[in-house]
Amino acid sequence: MRVFEEMQTKEHEQIVYCYDRPTGLKAIIAIHNTVLGPALGGCRMWPYENEESALYDALRLSRGMTYKSAVAGLNLGGGKAVIIGDAKTMKCEALFRAFGRFVESLAGRYITAEDVGTSVSDMEWVRAETDYVTGISRALGGSGDPSPVTAFGVYHGMRAALKKVFGSDSLVGRTIALQGVGQVGFYLIGHLLSAGAKVIAADIDADKIKRTDSQYDGAVSFLPPNDIYDVECDVFAPCALGGTVNAKTIPRLRCRIVAGCANNVLENEDLDGPALVERKILYVPDYVISAGGIINVSTELDGHTRKHATNKAAGIFDIVSQLLAIAETEKISTLKAANALAERRMASIANLKKLSIERPPRERSR
Ligand code: NAD
Repeated sequence: MRVFEEMQTKEHEQIVYCYDRPTGLKAIIAIHNTVLGPALGGCRMWPYENEESALYDALRLSRGMTYKSAVAGLNLGGGKAVIIGDAKTMKCEALFRAFGRFVESLAGRYITAEDVGTSVSDMEWVRAETDYVTGISRALGGSGDPSPVTAFGVYHGMRAALKKVFGSDSLVGRTIALQGVGQVGFYLIGHLLSAGAKVIAADIDADKIKRTDSQYDGAVSFLPPNDIYDVECDVFAPCALGGTVNAKTIPRLRCRIVAGCANNVLENEDLDGPALVERKILYVPDYVISAGGIINVSTELDGHTRKHATNKAAGIFDIVSQLLAIAETEKISTLKAANALAERRMASIANLKKLSIERPPRERSR
């Protein structure tokens, strides 16, 4: 990968490679955009096959965070960190504290949080070295696990999509095919079942399936992971990793809506977005519908409560409705409509900043 070329294309500001010999930590921090504020985004721990795939993930995930915060109306930029390693075997205090020292060295340009493969307790180790970390447990004065708020936002975004497609936001009798019953998927199932939906799910982790089965008293049917794409349903809800909606899986989908929390769910935005439109499947952009998590962690920076975050996450219904209306009026894809909303906001703030710099001091003080 030609890194500068890649940064130029996706408009990244900074990439930091982090290596700590004593712990073996190998991490990449990608800062995409800081126009709206410090770059906030989770730290993913994953056994990437090679450095290039780790970098690729950091680049695309950090860009996603810029757009996510911009559409959600937060004063935050986009960043993301990835730690190369197996979350099941490599986690320890020393490793996360080493990561925390790298975050600290960026002096607030990047603020970290939990993500796939990391947890609230890992972030507490990070906090021993830096204040630039969110997603700390509620017991320690943080906003706690963001997954329940993310799930709540996805549920409301899904309702807005149902309203658009079926004329009613009711979930009664609707079938949801849910991929990944991890932290978010698990809580999302609770909202869906309570609202009267039927949930068919899949996961590659037997422990996660067992936990879900026992929590919801067998109300969820499970399929082998690869069969979830073929389920006849109203909504396909990708809540696992990115890239699962792609050229191979789109022809198999038998749903009217794709709406789930997984970041960067389209493997190739330019091809997969139009392919979904072609198949008359409404796509709710991942970064809009999954903004509950960032809304929740942002309360740690502005001092708001979990209740405030939950109410704001319910507002994802309105954001998605607005977005779908724009897409229809302007005859553009839902993804383009979301991107346009984010880019308009960033451009207007960048302009404001430019104006305040260009204004002579006397005029500024008036
Ligand atoms: P998680 O690791 O807890 O859950 C992911 C689940 O997907 C796991 O149970 C895993 O076993 C399963 N999985 C992985 N590959 C799969 C496959 N091919 N088929 C079926 N299942 C598979 O992660 P999470 O926190 O629930 O996040 C899920 C997604 O949502 C991620 O893409 C994450 O970046 C995104 N997201 C999470 C939050 C949050 O608050 N946690 C916020 C915004 C976005």
